[in-house]
Amino acid sequence: MRIKQKIIVSFLIGAFAMGTVLPASVYADDAQQRLDQLKQQHAQTGQMINQLKGQESNLSNQIDTLNKQIQEYGQQIQDLEAQIQTLSTKIAALQADIDKTQKKLERRNEMLKKRIRVMYEDGEVSYLDVLLQATDFSDFIDRLSTLSFIVDQDKQLLEEVKQMKARLLDSQKQLKDQQALQQQKQNQLQAAKAEQEQAKHQREIALSQVQAERQEKEKAYQDEEQEIAAAEAEIAAAVSARLAAQQSSGVGGQAQEFSFTSSGSWTWPVPSSYTITSGYGPRAGGFHKGIDIGAPVGTPIVAVDDGEVLFAGPASGFGHWIVIRHSNGVMSVYGHMYSDGVLVSPGQIVHKGQVIGKVGSDGESTGPHLHFGVATGISGGSMNYVNPVPYLQ
Ligand SMILES: [Zn+2]
Repeated sequence: MRIKQKIIVSFLIGAFAMGTVLPASVYADDAQQRLDQLKQQHAQTGQMINQLKGQESNLSNQIDTLNKQIQEYGQQIQDLEAQIQTLSTKIAALQADIDKTQKKLERRNEMLKKRIRVMYEDGEVSYLDVLLQATDFSDFIDRLSTLSFIVDQDKQLLEEVKQMKARLLDSQKQLKDQQALQQQKQNQLQAAKAEQEQAKHQREIALSQVQAERQEKEKAYQDEEQEIAAAEAEIAAAVSARLAAQQSSGVGGQAQEFSFTSSGSWTWPVPSSYTITSGYGPRAGGFHKGIDIGAPVGTPIVAVDDGEVLFAGPASGFGHWIVIRHSNGVMSVYGHMYSDGVLVSPGQIVHKGQVIGKVGSDGESTGPHLHFGVATGISGGSMNYVNPVPYLQ
């Protein structure tokens, strides 16, 4: 363990030393230019992400509304279908009634025609002839009563035919009305179905938009992951070198005592914002080694506890970072600042609650936030990150 550590340490010291022999002016201009470009690019992306976030909530409202509409249209369609069904039954009954009346009317007409024919075929047999042929008064009365019966029957038959014709006309009118009403309901049904189809189509579009935005967000997370991993190597190396330097300058190889004590509890790193935009743990197929605290660019970042700054500056072009070592050996890590958002320098002793930087949006694309990490040490060239939340409670 100790040998391995020494090997790593000496390797790291070498790497650190090699880095420092390069004159800063060689790459300073380039780096500044690249940094400015990145700043601009990330500010734009951040704006876009915020816009998308707004759109996503708009979209989910839109989808809710569309879902409601689709349900309402579904109810309308069901009602209309039931109404059309009732009308169909009514129409069928009317049609049957009309058919029956028509047949009855035909039969009555037939009978009436027969009677008229009989009367005319026996042309000479008129009502008057029949009466005049009476043999006596009693016969006359008989004939008269028979005749009036026949006349009554004829009248009744005529009346029946007349009524039936009227009923038929009425039924036919009713049938026409019901058919028109049914047609109207059918049209309404078609319209409701078309509206429902359109709402479904709109929902489809909104859903695919939400999906696209989710993918966008996931990609942004993956980008941050990559950027942190890239910055990681540089930060871990620098921190290791610094720790090693402290150890070798300590008396008898003992670690140099820090001139600060732990307050026993940490404070929240962004006093004006408690919004965690992304938590510690698995994320978008990777692993988020810290928490993201959303806050506008320029928001003050404070040291969570007393400690010594081990690292403060750019990391592989992926934003600026600060690492503070606290008395218990645990390190707090602050990321994504702009160069002018780093207000401390390595070796500086800071106090709990002291402003050490300003929130930036550099080196990532999920909108301005502080990436805050906690590492319990360094092994194998990388920081041993743990969930920061328990340290902040
Ligand atoms: Zn983060």
